Amino acid sequence: MGNSVDIRLKNTMTHSAECLRKAVPLMVKYNIAVTPANYALWYSYVSGNHPNLNAKLDAALQTYGTCPPALSRDLFEEFLSDKDLDLFDSVAENISNLVEQVQSDMGQTLSTTSDFSQVLDSCNQDLDRYSKQQSHDIDVLDLVNKLAEESKLMQQTAERFQNKLSTAYHEISRLREELKQSQQAATKDALTGLNNRGAFDEDIELLCSSHHSALKLFLTFVDIDHFKQFNDDFGHQKGDQVLQVVAKRLLKNADQLNTAYRYGGEEFCILSQFKDVETAVNYAEKIRAEIERLAVKDGKSGQSLRNITASFGIAQYVGSSCTELVENADKALYEAKESGRNRVVVYKSFG
Ligand code: GH3
Ligand code: MG
Ligand code: MG
Repeated sequence: MGNSVDIRLKNTMTHSAECLRKAVPLMVKYNIAVTPANYALWYSYVSGNHPNLNAKLDAALQTYGTCPPALSRDLFEEFLSDKDLDLFDSVAENISNLVEQVQSDMGQTLSTTSDFSQVLDSCNQDLDRYSKQQSHDIDVLDLVNKLAEESKLMQQTAERFQNKLSTAYHEISRLREELKQSQQAATKDALTGLNNRGAFDEDIELLCSSHHSALKLFLTFVDIDHFKQFNDDFGHQKGDQVLQVVAKRLLKNADQLNTAYRYGGEEFCILSQFKDVETAVNYAEKIRAEIERLAVKDGKSGQSLRNITASFGIAQYVGSSCTELVENADKALYEAKESGRNRVVVYKSFG
């Protein structure tokens, strides 16, 4: 609604940090999921850009004590646009930095405050002893009592302050964890825990455009053989379990140079960097053999009902485009299927 340009103009670091400091605690307070859309909504709320949005949010808070997800979506649609989502991306990193900074500041303050409490405590004990020894001198006793009282009050204030800091510290830690989870949820496949298709699309772009290391870039498609039959014969739940055990093999073999993804349905893929094609084939062969040893088992007897196998199609990035790399790996996979399944095929047209 036109205003997003306005928001961006105002979005200097100071302004966004200021709004952040106001928006984030509110989201925590009202149990709002930390998603880009919700963040944009609450950012807008504290910026006061849309008075009507604020009125509607206030009404929701009054009625429900939170803003229900469906209403959040409606409000986002009514007052904001997809452009406002960029806000979250641009400040997400600042949030992490800010939180880290505040956490370390607080850690220091907490230890200083607790030292201060200890000093006050020992002062109190000294004063107490002193007052008992000087029990004949009334004036001094009064003074000492007064001092003791003062110091007790100060100690209580320090303790209250310490408690407040401690609460804020825990709230920030929780928020940090939520942020991490919401960022992870955006790139992970819920069923298998592998990186999802969105993550793959981003990673392949990045790897292709920045690829100039001594190692070569490979894409391997992994497709479970006759997967539909598992669903048909043993039910969808067993089918899901097959996906999970296969994903586990891919994850187990993943490392810094080999990232596994769920491409979609019963199809997975791996982005790898190896010195040559042979190493890429050996890697795929190892995983293929591990999958071959997996089986769907009978829930009661534990007896193997059917072995699981998968076909592999490998292509090497030859500096053209990501699309071509995907197409080539797909062609190799098709050939692996056509020539009998449970095998590794390399896309041919390179040396
Ligand atoms: P092929 O050997 O040629 O790959 O045969 P296929 O049966 O594995 O391939 P096909 O594409 O015919 O079937 C894939 C099936 O995967 C169809 C779809 O219902 C099922 N499927 C996709 N996603 C999921 C899922 O998340 N869970 C379960 N249980 N099944 C799924
Ligand atoms: Mg299949
Ligand atoms: Mg398939």
